[in-house]
Amino acid sequence: MKKLEIEIKCPNCSRVLKQRLDQMKNGRSKRCTCGCEIVFEGNGGPSAQRSLEKFERDLKRIFK
Ligand SMILES: [Zn+2]
Repeated sequence: MKKLEIEIKCPNCSRVLKQRLDQMKNGRSKRCTCGCEIVFEGNGGPSAQRSLEKFERDLKRIFK
């Protein structure tokens, strides 16, 4: 399976960051160059987490 990257937007400076999907797990985080840390749980809210899980499921279906 090839490395999948998605673009996430920093809530602080609106910079678009590339994020490896396979590294986007609960508790992981991505630090923006502005110093803002984007955590892939909690901060995004339950709905954001659900949509991410759905997104992963959809990808697995597509790339199976
Ligand atoms: Zn930023």
